[in-house]
Amino acid sequence: MKVGFATLGCRVNQYETEAMAEKFIKQNYNIVKFEDFADVYVINTCTVTNMGDKKSRQMIHRAKRRNPNAIIAVVGCYSQIKPEEISKIDGVDIVLGTRNKGDIISSVNKVLTYNNKVVEVKGVLKNKVFEDLKIEEYQDRIRAFLKIQDGCNRFCSYCLIPFARGGVCSRSPQNVIDEVKRLANNGFKEIVLSGIHIASYGVDLDGNWDLLKMLEILDTVEGIERIRIGSIDPQFFSNGVVHRISSLKKLCHHFHLSLQSGCDETLRRMNRKYTTLEYSSIVNDLRKHMRDVSITTDVIVGFPGETEEEFNKTYNFLKRIKLSKMHIFKYSQREGTKAANMDNQIDGKIKDIRSKRLIKLNDINEEEFISRFKGKSLDVLYEQKLNNTEDEYEGYTSNYIKVISKSSINLQGRIISTEILRSNSDHANGIV
Ligand code: SF4
Repeated sequence: MKVGFATLGCRVNQYETEAMAEKFIKQNYNIVKFEDFADVYVINTCTVTNMGDKKSRQMIHRAKRRNPNAIIAVVGCYSQIKPEEISKIDGVDIVLGTRNKGDIISSVNKVLTYNNKVVEVKGVLKNKVFEDLKIEEYQDRIRAFLKIQDGCNRFCSYCLIPFARGGVCSRSPQNVIDEVKRLANNGFKEIVLSGIHIASYGVDLDGNWDLLKMLEILDTVEGIERIRIGSIDPQFFSNGVVHRISSLKKLCHHFHLSLQSGCDETLRRMNRKYTTLEYSSIVNDLRKHMRDVSITTDVIVGFPGETEEEFNKTYNFLKRIKLSKMHIFKYSQREGTKAANMDNQIDGKIKDIRSKRLIKLNDINEEEFISRFKGKSLDVLYEQKLNNTEDEYEGYTSNYIKVISKSSINLQGRIISTEILRSNSDHANGIV
């Protein structure tokens, strides 16, 4: 039997797809590309934007076209929010919510045996148990994503995630530590800690656990050379945290600090819990303690009520603080959120104009950041040989600059000091 996966959305979804794929391998399935013929297709969906829903539906239709007799399983955030809508789509056999992904094999077996539709969606708002979807055998042996947390208690006014993923559930600390040791023993060099809101790690656990304490312990695990954290709430860095993390040897100097808006009025409507002044003081503090730090962010344009003046505040704020990369999103009205019912929804054309202005600003800032390192040597963890005739290898620095270097010797899986020769819009060329 063959199974193909399509994954939309965040790193947590990518992790969970890998964990589900492993369950299929254990049942002797062959993993094939989603574009290929398969007996089972699993679509791990995202519902953060309307576009996420649309793409998820497109994937369902594509799977059905490729093999009209395949079992089609739709899992994840979109399934959690709209199980009935999905189960009515032609060809869908299985619908599993965000905390039911571990049931994927038994669900496929039920369809094979009884030829019935399976819809299993646990309520997430009261469910505080971390679904321990483990990965025993990672596909590559260089960088491993490790999900340490699920859910979010923040309820930003535009976001459906707390409804799709529920409240904060943390993976048990001993389980995280054992897993990182196991990965180190298996030769992994870099661990990426991921979750939906990892700054909240430990709030649901006994024993005063938090992300900082976890990072300090993981920093001592022998064999692991880099620990990277995914997107993180700026508030994690208040109260002297910057000073403490700056002494960690393995923590990568790259932080994805979600900003969303550079205007305080907009931030308040978004129900974000910081001001632009607090945000910029965290940025300054990080830059003071880690001179090479890369700070990246997400920005939403066209949030309800965002006037030209408010957008200009965001633009000028971002021009001033010059982050090394920004992901620009056009606000997407999500039914069931507070923002969806706010007055003054913004026209799509205005969102387009604002998005283009910020993308242009990002291109300038990104190139400027990379070019700061021209002529300097940085440690690069090379992850793969590129599929071209040039003997080129691609890897990342601790501060997440993509570096491509030519080499006649195999660089894959090695951390090598590399001189940065040239900067391009989204990567640098280096020489080892
Ligand atoms: S912090 Fe806000 S945007 Fe992020 S997952 Fe939680 S509610 Fe959504």
